[in-house]
Amino acid sequence: MLTSLLIANRGEIACRVIRTARKLGIRTVAVYSDADAKALHVQQADEAVHIGPSPARESYLCGDKIIEAAKATGAEAIHPGYGFLSENADFAQAVIDAGLIWVGPRADSIRAMGLKDAAKARMIAAGVPVTPGYLGEDQSAATLKAEADKIGYPILIKAVAGGGGKGMRRVDDPAQFDDALDSCKREAASSFGDDRVLLEKYILSPRHIEVQIFGDTHGNVVHLFERDCSLQRRHQKVIEEAPAPGMDEATRASICEAAVKAAKAVDYVGAGTIEFIADTSDKEAGGSGLRADRIWFMEMNTRLQVEHPVTEEITGQDLVEWQLRVASGEALPKRQDELSINGWAIEARLYAEDPANGFLPSVGRLDHFALSIPHRVEGRIETGVMEGDELSTSYDPMIAKLVVHAVSRDQAIAGLRTTCERVRCWPVKTNAAFLALVLWDGGFEEGKVDTGLLARQLDEFLPSETPPEEVLQAVAMMVVDDTMGGRAGDIRETYINRPASAWSWVRGFRLNSATRPTIVRLNDGQDDYEVAFTEPSISTLPWVERVANGYLVDRDGSTFMLREARGEPSAFAGTTSSGTILSPMPGKVTAVDVAPGDTVTKGQRLLTLEAMKMEHGLVAPFDGIVAELNAVAGAQVQVDALLVRIEAEGQKDSHEGTKARSEGK
Ligand code: ADP
Ligand code: ADP
Ligand code: MG
Repeated sequence: MLTSLLIANRGEIACRVIRTARKLGIRTVAVYSDADAKALHVQQADEAVHIGPSPARESYLCGDKIIEAAKATGAEAIHPGYGFLSENADFAQAVIDAGLIWVGPRADSIRAMGLKDAAKARMIAAGVPVTPGYLGEDQSAATLKAEADKIGYPILIKAVAGGGGKGMRRVDDPAQFDDALDSCKREAASSFGDDRVLLEKYILSPRHIEVQIFGDTHGNVVHLFERDCSLQRRHQKVIEEAPAPGMDEATRASICEAAVKAAKAVDYVGAGTIEFIADTSDKEAGGSGLRADRIWFMEMNTRLQVEHPVTEEITGQDLVEWQLRVASGEALPKRQDELSINGWAIEARLYAEDPANGFLPSVGRLDHFALSIPHRVEGRIETGVMEGDELSTSYDPMIAKLVVHAVSRDQAIAGLRTTCERVRCWPVKTNAAFLALVLWDGGFEEGKVDTGLLARQLDEFLPSETPPEEVLQAVAMMVVDDTMGGRAGDIRETYINRPASAWSWVRGFRLNSATRPTIVRLNDGQDDYEVAFTEPSISTLPWVERVANGYLVDRDGSTFMLREARGEPSAFAGTTSSGTILSPMPGKVTAVDVAPGDTVTKGQRLLTLEAMKMEHGLVAPFDGIVAELNAVAGAQVQVDALLVRIEAEGQKDSHEGTKARSEGK
């Protein structure tokens, strides 16, 4: 067995690898950037080496610095985690050439499978069914367009070097092909340094089913069954489970066999995942639609996968331990006939993002952060951050994985739902409330999943941004208690004034009533709310917590911080639909689609901003005219920079707007 290991990663996966290494008595070395000097993975490792500034390309993506750190600390092996350098064949080879052990497949396997086009060609040769499409060398726009026409729409343009759901564009209409190709190539070049693409038939009613495989240096290959990762947003997995709902034994045997065949075709060593796409449109007699002859190879990920915990939970195996044993030259810990499925496991990816605001990443300090799993189920939380940490814009916004294991799928879902509903995170926003709403979905509970589910029902899963009534009432009661002393009362007669609305009538109280209410004014950091009691009252509610600067409430996955508002009752100006488009985060403008004076319609894309490794389209909030434009393609912008101002047509109250309009003509 290895005696020491450097982990060339950060965040939850670095912590995860350290945990198993420690269990096996292996000395661990972390590497870190400026932003991560105090990060959890640095604290947990036996030693840590600083490798550069915060941007990943100056630190976690610098192979030479990482190898140097391994040599300086006498680390025997390097574990790449996922993302970063994990699928970089040149780095794998450089590690081996430096006399170190690479915890991963051989460089030639990564090369064979790392590019989606080469991998598909290889799989066709090995007799594995692949998604129909175009893999050609000829990358000219005209050829690609002609091939797309041949395949038939809808088609999917994919960066051959893509990953993590990036560098993909679905095209439904030939007229949109050229635009989609440009945008796809641009994202591919900036994210992967390779703008080549392939084309695939876009599968309808698709389910993402993948098989975990493992190989060792003695020629053994086993599979550890399938996972279903169909719940995705923008091709990025959100909720994953194992086994796949509705999977019958015959279909399971067939895809697991295909996966083993695929791994054997590249003499695969270590942990890998074969991803398949299933066309489930043929649901006879209410079945799942999963059929062996409608499942195709999509790609292979030559590394540990983010969602590996669900496989660990149902098989009782530690996949990081398997990786370290295989890298040490040992045979696989189990034979195929010693592996079986026990119960159901489900994982949700907790992202620091704001579902109510287009899922834009949310950054800042984690002033309050707490996660817990209900006792009635098994499970674990994989995270790399702690309360008090500052989230950096340089890295992936995934801050934790919430994993639950139970005897049945229903119990696992219910356990994960509670886990999501209990998430406390403030002021950084998360997708916890969104996840909880998804986990309540009836179709999902019945196992009716496909990769379009989240997008189709997105509106149902978007949590409200404003605190619900019971939260306002509860906090107001605490305020009354804190400021007036305890007097028991009753909350039946409460009315709440929300921003942009008149005093609303709630539960039997009328504004015109003769009763003079006690009014508590609250502020949630954004808006003022007024809660009135006819009888000043108290009964402190256990789910409201007094903290240093206010009252903290976790409700259904949203965390609210309320404090007593000062000053006169506000005018409650409400949401004037301002047409000012501010940069939601620091980033780079990659494309500007409008010019001053242009007429735009609601939802039309104005410009594209690249931040946190993703492209974000900023769109017009309403029909109008581009009155002001400060965005230039290629420019770096700060948070809150005024990028564009849209004026509703007929709006005459701005000199600048008028000026911009006349100049634009
Ligand atoms: P895929 O989507 O290709 O199947 P995964 O779902 O396993 O792959 O996700 C891999 C992605 O995880 C990477 O492409 C990257 O965006 C992200 N990632 C990389 N490193 C980390 C990390 N330390 N913590 C969280 N996410 C990471
Ligand atoms: P990545 O490397 O980014 O993970 P994949 O090729 O694995 O790229 O595709 C990611 C996701 O995109 C899949 O899980 C699936 O939801 C969707 N997808 C990929 N190919 C197709 C296709 N041909 N038809 C429909 N959806 C697809
Ligand atoms: Mg994939």
